Amino acid sequence: MDVQFPERVALAATPTPLVFLERSSELLGVEVWVKRDDMTGIELSGNKVRKLEFLMADALAKGCDVVVTGGGEQSNHCRATALAATRLGLKSVLCLRTTDTRKPPQTRGNILMDRLAGSEIVWIDHEDWARQEEVYQEQATRLRKDGKTPYIIPEGGSNALGAWGYVVCAQELAGELAALAEQKPTTIVYACGSGGTGAGLQLGAALFGFAERNIEVAGVNVCDDADYFKTKIAKICDEVIASASLAVTIPKESISIVDGYVGKGYAQSSQEELECLRAMAEREAIFLDPVYSGKAWYGVVSELQKDPGCFGERIVFVLTGGLFGLFPQAHHFDALW
Ligand SMILES: *Cc1c(COP(=O)(O)O)cnc(C)c1O
Repeated sequence: MDVQFPERVALAATPTPLVFLERSSELLGVEVWVKRDDMTGIELSGNKVRKLEFLMADALAKGCDVVVTGGGEQSNHCRATALAATRLGLKSVLCLRTTDTRKPPQTRGNILMDRLAGSEIVWIDHEDWARQEEVYQEQATRLRKDGKTPYIIPEGGSNALGAWGYVVCAQELAGELAALAEQKPTTIVYACGSGGTGAGLQLGAALFGFAERNIEVAGVNVCDDADYFKTKIAKICDEVIASASLAVTIPKESISIVDGYVGKGYAQSSQEELECLRAMAEREAIFLDPVYSGKAWYGVVSELQKDPGCFGERIVFVLTGGLFGLFPQAHHFDALW
């Protein structure tokens, strides 16, 4: 289908490589490929950069000079937003969630990069996080009083505009998979945290005829549950479809979420997950992150143990980034050495 994309600003090094993992394929009895979306850049890297190409283009078109967003204390989305803003000559305000705002976390990992890139950090607690849209509005009001023109980006950049980033990724995958020597039943698996990646991939799958080619898309949720994400992804898809008058529908029931791998909770790792992350690094020198891709990959391996055919004959794991979130977790690996 010929798709009219919204305006975008170049931030991501795309197309990202699609690589075959020979040893993992042998081990798991299914072809394993990785879409290296951790390689959308070095520091400005990961899945959020694809979304930011569309969101930042909108911010620039609207004449904004500061972006306001939020996330967990080690948010990859916030780091990517801070860096994208700086690259484009804009300021950024990050509302970072932490347990006790009077005792903010140490400056390391993503937070270190946020600070170095000149971002203003506003610590918010879980209560404020529950009303995050209001908090962003309050920050925007404050900035306007200072003569600034703020642009608000929601959690994870997961709205109708941000989702376009993963329509682009689906388009890349459509071409890359069609170019492989053999066509096989395939599942594209991604870590689902705020739904934007899922929405873009689902839309792309519909627009580029994945179903006819035996290609499916499945998310592994790292927080909340399957119903929450099916509802959220369907909503984002509906907004994109309406705003761009696309001739597809994405019914909620058609969205596939592999539930059961939230484990100890958002950004809380179990020993099994860390062991699985280590095994991947040891086998392939590919680094999953503990919060998203590590949990999702643990889900993939666990599902394959239950049913080796559950993802077809070929898995494409979208490695969504998050490397910098690994370093502040180093002490959790102590038991492995
Ligand atoms: C944000 C994030 C995700 C989840 O993507 P969503 O679009 O928010 O669902 C997955 N992996 C990493 C590394 C992330 O930072």
